[in-house]
Amino acid sequence: MESLKILLVSPEAVPYAKTGGLADVAGALPKAIAGHGHDVKLIIPLYRQVHRNNYGLEKVGQDLNVTTAGRVENFRIHKAPTGIDRFEAWFVEHDGFFDRPELYRDPKTGGDWADNDERFSFFARAVLKACQSFDFIPDIIHCNDWQTGLIPALLKVDKTYNDFNRTASIFSIHNIAYQGNFPEESFAKLGLYNSLFAPGQGFEFWNKVSFLKAGVWYSDMINTVSETYAREIQSSNEFGYGFEGILKERSADLHGIINGIDYDIWNPAIDTLIPVMFTPDKPAGKKKCKAALRKALGLPQARKDVPIVGIISRLADQKGFDLIAEAADELLSLDLQIALLGTGDQKYHDLFQALNKKYPKKIAALLEFNNQIAHLIEAGSDMFLMPSRYEPCGLNQLYSLKYGTIPIVRRTGGLADTIENANPVKGTGTGFVFNRYDSKEMLAAIKFALEVYRDKNIWEIMMLRAMRQDFSWDMSAVKYLELYEKALKKKTMISL
Ligand code: ADP
Repeated sequence: MESLKILLVSPEAVPYAKTGGLADVAGALPKAIAGHGHDVKLIIPLYRQVHRNNYGLEKVGQDLNVTTAGRVENFRIHKAPTGIDRFEAWFVEHDGFFDRPELYRDPKTGGDWADNDERFSFFARAVLKACQSFDFIPDIIHCNDWQTGLIPALLKVDKTYNDFNRTASIFSIHNIAYQGNFPEESFAKLGLYNSLFAPGQGFEFWNKVSFLKAGVWYSDMINTVSETYAREIQSSNEFGYGFEGILKERSADLHGIINGIDYDIWNPAIDTLIPVMFTPDKPAGKKKCKAALRKALGLPQARKDVPIVGIISRLADQKGFDLIAEAADELLSLDLQIALLGTGDQKYHDLFQALNKKYPKKIAALLEFNNQIAHLIEAGSDMFLMPSRYEPCGLNQLYSLKYGTIPIVRRTGGLADTIENANPVKGTGTGFVFNRYDSKEMLAAIKFALEVYRDKNIWEIMMLRAMRQDFSWDMSAVKYLELYEKALKKKTMISL
C-alpha cells in the first residue's frame, strides 16, 4: 500500500483532553497507523484542559476564519510534535467555543452546552479550512462520533470543499446513544441548502437536526468498535437508538473493528503510575499494588485475603449501575471489597455516597476523574466489574486483562468479543461472563468468580492467561488500513 495522508478528527484525544474511551482510541490509533509509514495528523479543539506547555503546542500560520451560524469566526491553528515519526497533532483555537470548564457539558446546568451545534459545526469547517490553508489535503479523513459528523456531509454537498474531491471519509461510531440531535432551527446555522433538511435526506432525524445521521449518511465507510456492536446497532431499537434502519441500509459499508490498547500507557511492566511494576513472569508486585490501593482509598485490610473488585466508569445507566444499585446490599454482604472510581449521573453519586457511609469497610467509592487512581485500581484489584447494558467496545476490561485483574462482564458488544467465560474444569477462559441484563445473573457471575478465587492455583493460572492476551493496536490498525483502502476504492469508483 502506498503511503497515505490521513487526518484523524476527534472531539477528544489522549493525552490532551479526555472524557472517555474515544480519547484513548484517538490518541493511540494514529501512532499505530504512522508506524505503518503513513503521514497522520490528529486534530482536536484546543480546550482549556489541554496543557499547552506540557505538549509543546505552537501557534502556526495566520488568523483563519469560517462562517458559522451567519457569523464570521476567527481561529488559529496550533501544532505539536508527538514524539512519533509522521504523526503530528493539530489544535483548533477558538476561546469563545473551547475555553470552557468542561468539554461538552455546562456544569452550571448539568446539561450539554446550549451552543454545541455551533461549536461543532464551527469545528467541522475549521478543520477543513486548516487542511486547505496548510496544504494538507488528506487521502482519508477519519471522523469520530457526532461532533465530527458534519465533515463527511460538507465534503459531499458544499463546493467550498472541492479540493477534497479525492478524499474518502470514514465515520467511526463509538457510542450510538450520543447523537448530537438539535432543534430544527439549528439547520439554518449550518450554512447548507435548506432542501437538505427533509425526511429521506442526510440530516433529518425525527424532526431534529442530527450530526450523527449526517456522519453515517454521507461518509464513504462507517465503522464501529466491535463486531458484535456493529450487529447489535442494526438489530433493534434497544441497541440502535433509532438508527437501526439507517444503519441497516448501509450494512455493506458498516464494519466492526475492536479497539486496541496502548500498551505504552496501560502495561504493569512499565507503568510509572503504580507503586510496584509486575509482569506475568514476576507477578508478585500485584500484591503490593493491592495493599497500596487499600491504603489510597482507605479500605481496611481484612483478616484474610479478601478480593477487591474494581470499577472505573462513567456513572451512567449504560454501564449497568441500575443492576449494581438493585443488588447493592447483597453484593456488599459477599466476601469482597469494592474500589470504585467514577463520575456521572447525580443519582449514582448519591447512591455511592450512601453506600460509602453504610459499608465503610466494604466499599470505597471515589467520585472524581483521576487517571492515577484508575491505574492503581487496575493494578491492585483482583476482579473488575463491567455489567454494561450495552458496550460498544469497552477498554477497562482490556486494561484489566493486562493487569491480571479478572473481568466480570455482561455478554454484549465488545465485552462479548474480548472476554471468554471461565471454565475451570477445562482450564479455559479469561473472565466471567453473564448473559441477561439481570442483577441475579450478575450476582451469580460474581459468586462464581469468588469461588474460583478461593482456589489459588486455578486463579493464578487464569490471571496469567489474562495477562498474556494481546489486544495491542497492531491488529486493529491493519484492519483500519484495510477499511481506508476500501473507502478509497469506493471513492475512486464513484468519481470515475
Ligand atoms: P466509555 O468511553 O463508554 O466511557 P470505555 O471503557 O471505552 O468507556 O473507556 C473509558 C475510559 O475512561 C477508560 O480509559 C477509563 O479508564 C476512563 N475513565 C472513566 N472514568 C474515569 C474516572 N473517573 N477517572 C479516570 N479515568 C476514568
